[in-house]
Amino acid sequence: MENNPLQKYYRQPKIYLDLPSKGKFYPNGAIDGDPSKLPVFGMTAMDEIMFKTPDALFNGEATVQVIKSCIPGILHPWSMPQLDVDACLIAIRIATYGESLETTFTCNSCKEDNKFDLDLTKSLEYYLSLEYENTIIVGPMMVTVRPLTYKEATEINTKSFEFRRQLYNVAGLEDEEIKNNTLNDIYKKIADLSAKGFTTAIAKIEVEDSVVDDPSYIQEWLKNSDKEFFDSIRTHLEKTNEKWSLKSQSVNCVSCNTENKVAFGLDNSDFFVKR
Ligand SMILES: [Zn+2]
Repeated sequence: MENNPLQKYYRQPKIYLDLPSKGKFYPNGAIDGDPSKLPVFGMTAMDEIMFKTPDALFNGEATVQVIKSCIPGILHPWSMPQLDVDACLIAIRIATYGESLETTFTCNSCKEDNKFDLDLTKSLEYYLSLEYENTIIVGPMMVTVRPLTYKEATEINTKSFEFRRQLYNVAGLEDEEIKNNTLNDIYKKIADLSAKGFTTAIAKIEVEDSVVDDPSYIQEWLKNSDKEFFDSIRTHLEKTNEKWSLKSQSVNCVSCNTENKVAFGLDNSDFFVKR
């Protein structure tokens, strides 16, 4: 409301985020403002509650709502490239609680328990140093890949989690035949899911004079292609995922000075609770 006298006490941007993707891979009109300087606000009490709601965390809704609230320049978080999501969450945490994240670890050499403040700006800088490589040359073909959207990635992750849970439940079945049939069924679903993730990531294939971007053509080709094609694309996608994932930080033990690799995750509510 425009005439609200409380307006000047509204929260102000705490930091400005340079999107690791540089704003590429967003649908037209999905970013309001300069993708290299998006204002990031600290979380509201409502946002914090979202991150404590297990269902909303699991299905991605919490992340979407909190990004909308804290980085309003990203208009449709479901359609943003998955690449930018971790950097956005780190930026939101910095804007809310500051740059350091208190972490504990047990030294892998002397077993001493250490307390340490990780510097979250280092993790943000890492993402900013990355470049998304989107072309792979496979024999005569030039394959262009794209990052999955947050929606696509979340759907695949939740289904994959569901299948793993089903696998776990099968162990309790007594009838061997039913057990084997159920197992085969689940393995088939897992294979289909990974094929789906794969085809979704391929934006187009250029060969000779043709450009193919119809997913059903691409899917059919993958089914009928030599293993080497499939493998070289898969290796590229796996390497890209690995590169764009959160890295551990090196910390020296206070007691014996041995270097330890300390990892932290964004996928649980702990990250968003003030400590
Ligand atoms: Zn030590």
